Amino acid sequence: MDKHSYDVVIVGGGHGGAQAAIALRQAKFSGSIAIVGKESEPPYERPPLSKDYLSREKTFDRILIRPAAFWGERDIVLHLRQRVETIDAAAHEATTANGDVFAYRHLIWAAGGAPRRLSCAGGDLAGVHAVRDRADVDRIMDELDGVQDVVVIGGGYIGLEAAAVLSKLGKRIVVLEALDRVLSRVAGEAISSFIEASHRAHDVVIRTRTAVECIEGVAGRASAVRLVGGERLPAQMVIVGIGLQPTVQPLLAAGAQGGNGVAVDAQCRTTLPHVFAIGDCALHANRFADGAHIRLESVQNANDQALVAARTIAGVEARYDAVPWFWSNQYDIKLQTVGLSMGHDATVARGDPATRKFSVIYLRQGRVIALDCVNDVKSYVDGRRLVEQGVMASPEQLADTAKPLKELL
Ligand SMILES: Cc1cc2nc3c(=O)[nH]c(=O)nc-3n(C[C@H](O)[C@H](O)[C@H](O)COP(=O)(O)OP(=O)(O)OC[C@H]3O[C@@H](n4cnc5c(N)ncnc54)[C@H](O)[C@@H]3O)c2cc1C
Repeated sequence: MDKHSYDVVIVGGGHGGAQAAIALRQAKFSGSIAIVGKESEPPYERPPLSKDYLSREKTFDRILIRPAAFWGERDIVLHLRQRVETIDAAAHEATTANGDVFAYRHLIWAAGGAPRRLSCAGGDLAGVHAVRDRADVDRIMDELDGVQDVVVIGGGYIGLEAAAVLSKLGKRIVVLEALDRVLSRVAGEAISSFIEASHRAHDVVIRTRTAVECIEGVAGRASAVRLVGGERLPAQMVIVGIGLQPTVQPLLAAGAQGGNGVAVDAQCRTTLPHVFAIGDCALHANRFADGAHIRLESVQNANDQALVAARTIAGVEARYDAVPWFWSNQYDIKLQTVGLSMGHDATVARGDPATRKFSVIYLRQGRVIALDCVNDVKSYVDGRRLVEQGVMASPEQLADTAKPLKELL
């Protein structure tokens, strides 16, 4: 049990934590900085885990956020394999599972979240995997040789990306989605249908409105997924992508406000003194969600909130007001999203899905609030400025592919 003391302790060495440390040094912060993270590796990028790391097109070295030597060169101390369990807000101390104590002047909580687990029988059999960290994906890759049938539970981005990669590797894939279409939480119907059709064209079976009863196993290992109604789907591997539970319990137990995430203000400050929270776990008022308190699970959000927390600590004025953006790669599809489409009252199609290059533009009361762009980088780049500025435009103007969207600015 060791006692450490730093000016800034960052809990979690993922996208947000790494970026916060980098941004502190960029803001000329000269105090001591430590990242305390429960994984074994220096900070690495998570998006490739369901894309080119899973497909083995990128090695682990190529997905490091910075080369391993970077952290020491910037005087940023990495404490790996350390899980913070409790915060004593009055004493300004964080304590890890093995009893080490980290005293802080400022704490940045960047612990992300844990993948939601299946609650049904068989959810803990060998061969049932989440896709959240490197260890999950290494386990999947290690087992793949013996696998022919994969059932993916959850038609969100992560499940669909994994399905695309594994089908390219020659596996038979069935994706199960409980709702009536894939990506229903994040994209409009036109995008969902396009994505579903693209998977079907690669022989991936997509089954919507389908609920899982349990996972069946043989000798402790998954062998099939049983659906409500009794149907059995063979599965030597099951991938579960059903969302994320924010890791905030130590903060809430210490008295921070929150619930599904920890509440933060525009500077990413929690209600605990000198404790900031950023990234997937931070519940914040977002202008692009009409001021609603939301969490965003994206690299953009983690990086931009990291910047705000770091600048605030370094004494530079900053507030979080960044336009949300996101991307997903599946087969030949580069899907880029900007803005938040929740609460839209109209959509406009720009381009023809049959050309595999098109966008869907979401409007609220005549104002552009979001775009989903499929292989349409130009509309994404221009559309981003329309969203940022809340531009009013008619459906006819937005649909006219002969005119670049930037002419509407
Ligand atoms: C497979 C996958 C694909 C994705 N693809 C995309 C994409 O294409 N585009 C996009 O924008 N976003 C994508 N995301 C989401 C994006 O990666 C996250 O939004 C981002 O990583 C959030 O950063 P974060 O710092 O909040 O959390 P994380 O990056 O998850 O980092 C949190 C870190 O904290 C550690 N930790 C947790 N609890 C503790 C504790 N108690 N003590 C110490 N350490 C702890 C965790 O182990 C982890 O290392 C993807 C995510 C996954 C999993």
